[in-house]
Amino acid sequence: MSSLNIEEIKKDFPILDQQINGSKLVYLDNAATTLKPIQVIGAMANYNKRNNGNPHRGAHQLSIRATEEYDAAKTRVKEFINAKDSAEIIFTKNTTESLNLLAYSYGKAFINEGDEIVLAISEHHGNILPWQRVAKEKKAVLKYLYLNENGEITEKEIKDKITPKTKLVNIAHMSNVLGTINPVKEIIDYTHKMGGVVVVDGAQSIPHMKVDVQELDADFYTFSGHKMLGPMGIGVLYGKKDILNQMPPYLLGGDMIEYVTEQDATFAPLPFKFEAGTQNVEGAVGLRRAIQYLEDIGLDNIQEHERVLTEYALEQMKDIAHLNIQGTKNLDIKGGIISFTIDDVHPHDTASILDSYGIAIRSGHHCAQPLMNYLGVPATSRVSFYIYNSKEDVDKFIEALKNVRKWLGYES
Ligand code: PMP
Repeated sequence: MSSLNIEEIKKDFPILDQQINGSKLVYLDNAATTLKPIQVIGAMANYNKRNNGNPHRGAHQLSIRATEEYDAAKTRVKEFINAKDSAEIIFTKNTTESLNLLAYSYGKAFINEGDEIVLAISEHHGNILPWQRVAKEKKAVLKYLYLNENGEITEKEIKDKITPKTKLVNIAHMSNVLGTINPVKEIIDYTHKMGGVVVVDGAQSIPHMKVDVQELDADFYTFSGHKMLGPMGIGVLYGKKDILNQMPPYLLGGDMIEYVTEQDATFAPLPFKFEAGTQNVEGAVGLRRAIQYLEDIGLDNIQEHERVLTEYALEQMKDIAHLNIQGTKNLDIKGGIISFTIDDVHPHDTASILDSYGIAIRSGHHCAQPLMNYLGVPATSRVSFYIYNSKEDVDKFIEALKNVRKWLGYES
């Protein structure tokens, strides 16, 4: 049984209180982006009404308040993921920017000809394309961890692919397509033994489970505010201080310098070295409030709630004819994401038909074309749960799902 009081939680999300195509909205596209509670909306409005200023630059009160808000958000993120130091927290635009920063900067400093970069075949394009560019520019080699028939990365695959030549491994903590929670701790420990470092893409894990970067011993960890009840336009790159200190800056400009002469410049210490230009203070304020909201509910309770919903949905989906679940069904290594296909139905048709019932789901390649290719499907439909979803939402989804093929003229 879930310990979350969904009816109370739903009241914090006014966006859910509306009709879509004549039905009350059921939002099941949380892996794409989550909804914002009134507490987050309010914190950002309050910041704009009272405290808006450009941080770190002014002696006047509004600039000082903006600086305090920005720094407080950073400290909150540090505590949330249990980083050692808030200098290890760099605010970016989103996970994609965090990964691009890393690929540019780490790639420039540390990747050389013949080095191997290992990725999972299930990675999001945001964690593939930046490394493809590094590999091309540096003549490094990209190697992939493939999945077994259950959509899992096996120990054998890890040991076969990660070798002393491996400079860097990129792995999503949770797959945005299959919901699989990858064995990141094993991958990190093994990669360290081989002498490499590990980048964990936490876009799908951070919102749904407790993450402790020190316990994981992750070298880098990335995530986006908008997938965890916060606003769009704020993301995080966590990195171990000693590695970040050795990396060159990514963007150059205001606020990231120590001293500038006509021909040269020296750079500010961490984290400012990686935060050029005016930052998204309003976004940082929203992210801080979102973290507070999630911690008030408790990440363990959130994970358990999603496990209950996923189990409940899978149980009913297995009885629907012509429906195929992609990836693992093992709930011990699966978050609240289910990808599926229906025979003879394009996933976009499934999503459009469900939309006519007011049910929002995702369809497409989910920015994971190498995975689609590996699975042998052009696209999938995907449902993804969060704290405001109830068993009634799942029931409505299942009822609508049973009608998809009938809508398209099939008898069953
Ligand atoms: N990685 C994963 C696993 C994701 O699910 C996403 C978003 N779908 C991203 C990276 C990119 O996140 P963003 O668009 O917020 O940069």
